[in-house]
Amino acid sequence: MERRDFFKKMGLFAAMFGIGGKLKAQDAQPPEKKAAEPPQETDTKLTFLGTAHGAVTPTRFHSSTLLQVGGKNYLIDAGDAVCGQLTKNGMFLPDLNAIFITHPHLDHFGGLFMLIQQWLFHKQIYPKRVKEDAHLDVYLGGQDFVDTMKAVRKGYYRSENYPAITKLHAFQPGEIFNDGNIKVTAYGNDHMGRRKTDNSQIASSFLFECANGKKIFFSGDLSREYDLPMDGIKGGVDLLVSELVHYPLPKAIERLKDQPIKKICFQHHGDAWERSGWEKRFADFSKQLTSPAEIVRDNDVRFV
Ligand SMILES: [Zn+2]
Ligand SMILES: [Zn+2]
Repeated sequence: MERRDFFKKMGLFAAMFGIGGKLKAQDAQPPEKKAAEPPQETDTKLTFLGTAHGAVTPTRFHSSTLLQVGGKNYLIDAGDAVCGQLTKNGMFLPDLNAIFITHPHLDHFGGLFMLIQQWLFHKQIYPKRVKEDAHLDVYLGGQDFVDTMKAVRKGYYRSENYPAITKLHAFQPGEIFNDGNIKVTAYGNDHMGRRKTDNSQIASSFLFECANGKKIFFSGDLSREYDLPMDGIKGGVDLLVSELVHYPLPKAIERLKDQPIKKICFQHHGDAWERSGWEKRFADFSKQLTSPAEIVRDNDVRFV
């Protein structure tokens, strides 16, 4: 489809869904009331948008974390509700620079289609705020995952040209991204069961090395053995963001004790960590770790 035709079609969609109303595109203002605080050059800011595991609760949504550093915005996982959570936290979606999905389970990418859709609507409705050549880079573990995304999108838009604005990248373990501001390295883990020998479907943990010197490791979901890829943290990390649901706690203690980790934020937790008495249980667990640790909840913000 021609680019012009595409936007014409998008305009129809916008009209169908009541988006844009009578506003002229060039006069429209971005929707956020609350201005996002622009990250400072030296800050590394994490906003936990969704900290539930597969089953949501009234206060916790599916996995998604916003990483802001060096004036850029990156998303790790895009669970259901991510669009609303980003908007609520003051993010104008076309300001997102890249999205990294840890693995193809729906609680980690169920919101991705809607996010891409909203990104495009915002680009169309607020053209003055979005560079003409802006596009959204999405990193997915393996070609199967990319092909699945393309197939769903094709069914919806009946066009193969649609992905031109969204670039889907299939990655394998190793360095997957480097924009001079952050370098991202993917480490395979066994959360999805035995990895296919051709690596076409994988679960990953990610190491983010920021230009300001900070290092953050995201466990993603792990196996019952708490198979955190230790290569990713052996050089020392300022923060480990770890899941908290798929393994017995002694397994995590075994792996994390005496490791060069300055702090641990646990997320992706089940209801057990909301029931009465969870504080004592967590205190007993964390005092066996050698790094300070906490459980984070939706909309918590931490600076590294
Ligand atoms: Zn999960
Ligand atoms: Zn999973």
